[in-house]
Amino acid sequence: MGEALSCHLISPYVEGDDASLEFLDQEEDVLTHLGDAEINEGLMKRLLSGAELMTELYTPGTTTLHFSEHRRSVTEFKGGYKIAVQRGARLNEVKVFNLFFRIKSNRINSIDSTPVAQMYTARNGERLILLHPVDTIARIDYEKTFYLNSTLKLVNQGKVSDDAMQVMVSNLSGLNINERCAQTLMHEYGHILHWRAFDGLFSDLDMPNVYPEQISSSYAMNVAMLFWFQEQNYIYNVANRVPNFLTYNTQTRIHLLKESFVEDYRISLNMQSLNGKFILPNAVCVVGDLMTPELGVEGVRIVRNMLNDINNRTVNNNITGVDSFTQDMEHDRITISSVFFEAAFDSDWEPGKVTFTESDVNQMFEDLVIDNMRANADVIFGAAFNMAERYTAPLFEKIDKIEDIKNRVKPK
Ligand SMILES: [Zn+2]
Repeated sequence: MGEALSCHLISPYVEGDDASLEFLDQEEDVLTHLGDAEINEGLMKRLLSGAELMTELYTPGTTTLHFSEHRRSVTEFKGGYKIAVQRGARLNEVKVFNLFFRIKSNRINSIDSTPVAQMYTARNGERLILLHPVDTIARIDYEKTFYLNSTLKLVNQGKVSDDAMQVMVSNLSGLNINERCAQTLMHEYGHILHWRAFDGLFSDLDMPNVYPEQISSSYAMNVAMLFWFQEQNYIYNVANRVPNFLTYNTQTRIHLLKESFVEDYRISLNMQSLNGKFILPNAVCVVGDLMTPELGVEGVRIVRNMLNDINNRTVNNNITGVDSFTQDMEHDRITISSVFFEAAFDSDWEPGKVTFTESDVNQMFEDLVIDNMRANADVIFGAAFNMAERYTAPLFEKIDKIEDIKNRVKPK
C-alpha cells in the first residue's frame, strides 16, 4: 500500500451514509477495513468513488501531488453540506469531494492559484464539486478583518453609511467553520446551475450542430453566456455595482459576470433562509452593494428569476464533448474584492455613474468574434461566422459595422 493510501485520501460524501472511509497505516487495520468493505455497501461506494476520482485527476501530465497540512475535517464537510442543502442547494444532484491534497496536472492546478474549491468537469462530461484543503478558521479571520477594515475606510471617506457598516458587521458575525464551508458549496453549486443554463441555451439554439468540433468551445460558451446575461438585464446591474467595469476587457467582464452570478445565487439562498442575511458579501460587487444596497437586492432578484427558469429544466450534468474550459474555481475572495475596494478608495467612482449601454454589449460580442478568429485556424472561421450570425443576429443587426465584421469572418 503506497504513501497516498496511508493517509485519509479522499472523503466523498454519500448522502445519508454515515460510514467514514479511512485508510490506516497498520496493515492489520487495512485488512479489517477491507473486511468491512465486503459487507458495507456505503463504504464500498466511497472506496470506488474515491478511486474513480483519483483516476480522473491523476493524468500523465500530473507533476505535483501535495498533501496539505490543512484538511477540512469530516465534521466541517458534513456540517457545511447539511447547511447548504437546507438553504436549497441541491447537492444531491452532483458528486462533492473533500480533497486532502492539492494537485497540479494538465487538467487541474490547485497548487499555484490555491483555490478554496472548484467546479470540475470530468473527462466524461460529469460536473463535480471539489473542495480543496484550507485552514477555515484562519480564512474566516482573514475575511472578517479584511471586509470590516475596508468597509470602515469607505465609511470614513463618507461613501458608505453607518447603517451599511452595521449590516456588514452583523452578517460577518454569522460565520463559523460549517457556515463558511456551506458558503463555498453554495457558490460552487451556483456554477453547476449556470452551466446547466448554458447547456439549455445550446440545445435551444441547436448548438450541437456546430459544437464543439468546428468551433472554439470557450468562444461558443462565452457567446451563449453573454447573450443570456444581456437578455436578462443582469449585465447592466453588475456594471453599476463594479467599480470601473468598463475598463475591463471582454473576457474579464464575462468572468466577473459569472462570478457575480454565483455570488448572488449564494446570497439569495442565505436571504431566503436567514431573514435577509447575506453572510459574506458578493465578492465582485461588494463595493457597489455597500454604497447602494438596492443594487445588490436588485441583482439577487434578477438571478433568482433567471434560476427559476433553469430549475424547471431537466437535470443535465452530462453533456458530451465538453473540454476543460468548465473549471470554475472559487479563488481567494479577498484577492477579488480588494481590487474593487482599491478602485473606490480615494476615487470619485460611484455606482451607476458611468452608464453601461447596449452598444457596450454589442462591442463585447464583436470582441468575442474577433478573439475567436485570432485564436483559431482558418477552418474555424466558417463555423464562427455561422454561429455568430445565428446566435447574435438580433444584436448584430443593430451594429452599424455588421457588414465589416461579416467580411472579416467570412470563409475565404
Ligand atoms: Zn466561482
